[in-house]
Amino acid sequence: MIADSFGRVHDYLRISLTDNCNFRCFYCMPEEEYDFTPASRLMQTDEIIKLAKVFVSQGVKKIRLTGGEPLVRKDAAAIISALGKLPVELVITTNGTRVAEMLPVLKEAGIKTINISLDTLQAEKFMLITRRDVFHQVRSNIELLLHEKITVKINMVVMKGLNDGEIKDFIDWTKHNPIQIRFIEFMPFSGNKWTSNKMFSLQEILTAVEKDFTVLPVEGAPHDTAKHFMIPGHEGSFAIISTMTAPFCSTCNRMRLTADGKLKNCLFSNGETDLLTALRNDEDVLPLIMASIWEKKKALGGQLISHFESLDAAAINNRSMITIGG
Ligand code: SAM
Ligand code: SF4
Repeated sequence: MIADSFGRVHDYLRISLTDNCNFRCFYCMPEEEYDFTPASRLMQTDEIIKLAKVFVSQGVKKIRLTGGEPLVRKDAAAIISALGKLPVELVITTNGTRVAEMLPVLKEAGIKTINISLDTLQAEKFMLITRRDVFHQVRSNIELLLHEKITVKINMVVMKGLNDGEIKDFIDWTKHNPIQIRFIEFMPFSGNKWTSNKMFSLQEILTAVEKDFTVLPVEGAPHDTAKHFMIPGHEGSFAIISTMTAPFCSTCNRMRLTADGKLKNCLFSNGETDLLTALRNDEDVLPLIMASIWEKKKALGGQLISHFESLDAAAINNRSMITIGG
């Protein structure tokens, strides 16, 4: 069992397969020119599996693959297939571009839920946010997953003045489709142009939805990072991830392994533990994992303690989201 000093048991591991990506979402990537980590410094397939097995031996029940864009990694299929053989619930977060070609591998590995990031339902705005002209490809891949009866969750980062006006359109989408829309509060990371006035809060999102719909709260699972809601008569549902205004730290069970093999005990922690070097030196990584999680801070990596309106994003010491693995 992997536990921290506050008694939180950690049984959910998020593995970043790469910090590379075929999109350039401004809220995720650092502002300056960014060099992706060379392949030799990334965890190799066998190293990912070895590390994952150590976590699973200590009670990890769920693994999420993320990145960067996990499906751009050349050996993604081999990694997904190998992880699919472990006794865990395997899930993935992707920008959706490679879903069609990877579908047989994803299904074979037993993946039943896929989170796809889509911040707008307008092709032009999609291009503005991601700097890639593939809106229709992502939309058709979402349709494909729905057709295949795979559970689809849509991650939408809500940013004031950019896409907050589309909340109703996303909710309309859930009327006849069994999708879950996950509205995410915009979070600050190194170089991502975050300012508090671009943030659209949990309360603002709820108010926007309640303007047009009757909203009923739904009880979530114990470790949920989202508050869940339903709208009577809608096949789908929605949730709000309110990391900035109402964080979920008290029940956190998450650990993050970066693509270069560093363990982060919190999305906002500034410390990390180098598991990959230890593994390559034939050292036992388990004591390192245990120590890292034991040192986890009570909330938000001990960094985002002030109210978001007075937060100085430039003073936050962290990697950019693309190098952590969201
Ligand atoms: N490339 C994949 C994707 O886009 O789904 C997986 C990695 S991405 C870093 C994981 C999630 O983090 C995405 O849903 C993305 O929208 C979210 N994300 C990235 N930067 C964020 C930020 N600054 N605030 C909130 N969510 C963010
Ligand atoms: Fe790439 Fe996902 Fe980050 Fe967009 S959010 S740049 S798709 S990793």
